[in-house]
Amino acid sequence: MSTEISHNREANGTQHDKALIFELSKAGRIAYSLPEQDVPDVDMDTLIPADLRRSEPAELPEVYEVDVIRHYTALSKRNFGIDDGFYPLGSCTMKYNPKINEDVARFPGFAKIHPYQPESSVQGALELLYRLQQDLADITGMDRVTLQPAAGAHGEWTGLMMIRAYHESRGEKRTKVIVPDSSHGTNPASATAAGFKTVTIPSNEDGLVDLDALRAAVDNDTAALMLTNPNTLGLFEEHITEIAAIVHEAGGQLYYDGANSNAIMGITRPGDMGFDVVHLNLHKTMSTPHGGGGPGSGPVGVKAHLAPFLPTPIVGQRETGEYFLDTNYPQSIGRVKAYYGNFGILVRAYTYIRSLGPEGLRQVTENAVLNANYMLRKLAPYFDVPYDRICKHEFVLSGKGLKQYGVRTLDVAKRLLDFGYHPPTIYFPLNVEECIMIEPTETESKETLDAFIDTMIQIVKECEDDPEFVKNAPYTTKVRRLDETQAARKPVLNCACGV
Ligand SMILES: *Cc1c(COP(=O)(O)O)cnc(C)c1O
Repeated sequence: MSTEISHNREANGTQHDKALIFELSKAGRIAYSLPEQDVPDVDMDTLIPADLRRSEPAELPEVYEVDVIRHYTALSKRNFGIDDGFYPLGSCTMKYNPKINEDVARFPGFAKIHPYQPESSVQGALELLYRLQQDLADITGMDRVTLQPAAGAHGEWTGLMMIRAYHESRGEKRTKVIVPDSSHGTNPASATAAGFKTVTIPSNEDGLVDLDALRAAVDNDTAALMLTNPNTLGLFEEHITEIAAIVHEAGGQLYYDGANSNAIMGITRPGDMGFDVVHLNLHKTMSTPHGGGGPGSGPVGVKAHLAPFLPTPIVGQRETGEYFLDTNYPQSIGRVKAYYGNFGILVRAYTYIRSLGPEGLRQVTENAVLNANYMLRKLAPYFDVPYDRICKHEFVLSGKGLKQYGVRTLDVAKRLLDFGYHPPTIYFPLNVEECIMIEPTETESKETLDAFIDTMIQIVKECEDDPEFVKNAPYTTKVRRLDETQAARKPVLNCACGV
């Protein structure tokens, strides 16, 4: 370890940070105690073949329980989550996760069951899954829902595989999936993974789908159009029924990327707009934890004509009222995940939906949209606003006006860290120069929104007065500026100093 690194740790670390868990290791220390063995020794030679067994013991730190606890507690304090502060990460819907969801997920009847238990002994869990399927179908305007996919991108891929199976069942081999240039990066990636060619069409000057470009791109080789509505600029596609007609007339399917449905839930439904398939991210709209906070969930809803292709099992209900795992879908694309989806997450989402009810869900949407428009209007005088109209649940600003001071959007984002905020999404969508994409969500108070607005305005003033200061931010974090590409590809995981 270099002296510079140790110096950093000295300056910033808490007392415990200074000792890395591996450095604390002393042979023979353990952090657990087991009861005395009361079963015969197993014969390792018959249990695990010799060539599968390691020859050397694993290199693990030997430490006391208290060392382990302090190590992980120290690491947890370096994290930033929605329970720490405002997190306006556009397109990610970082809303507060109500703790009642956690309480319910911990009920022993949900937490302590096994996926291979007989159906008769887990009727309550199956009922919850069945009801969640129904609720999500109602919310999206679809006929049937699978709860299996483990993330938004996984849902996209699942939906596209069903679209593929549908076309093939009609003797058609369509190869193209159309996406607008504002689409989320997972859309073209999922289309490619599902074996399609992606065709990108440009947005018009209003930031919406260019109908002429769409007409020119659609033909009888078009399998689907993937769309987010409102799109990632936070703008509602006004011509959605016309768009649907163009695609359907050519025999294509409409895929709705409903990762964030905070702009439409309880007000309009993809099914009513003409979409055939939709995925939802429960870890966005339905307040289940994100990222390191827990596994994701990306249920997919389909219209009836696509239902035969759903992954199995689907939870069904017999005439006797009993719930069961229905695998009788001969045209199914197959299983897309082990067991029945991320069950604990499904319990949390169901709790959220039931604790709010239809009226509550609508209110979520209204407040999310109100908060975004409030913030947009307050910040509009200080930034370029590429699409200056009423937005939905999120909006984009451009930091291009700050270039005259030599400051970029990235610098503004880094400076926000000093104020204890998670920065907004930056440089996405790709069609806006120096993009800053803000999604305040409905769970924040006016005071929180105002404080963030004031901070953004203060940073703009700093750019004018002392651009170098902004360009060297952040000043208060454990580490300063990282190589973001390398940080993701080659993360340093075994050094508590993090450098
Ligand atoms: C977040 C998001 C996705 C991807 O969801 P993951 O769960 O991260 O795979 C797809 N589309 C949009 C519009 C999103 O915001």
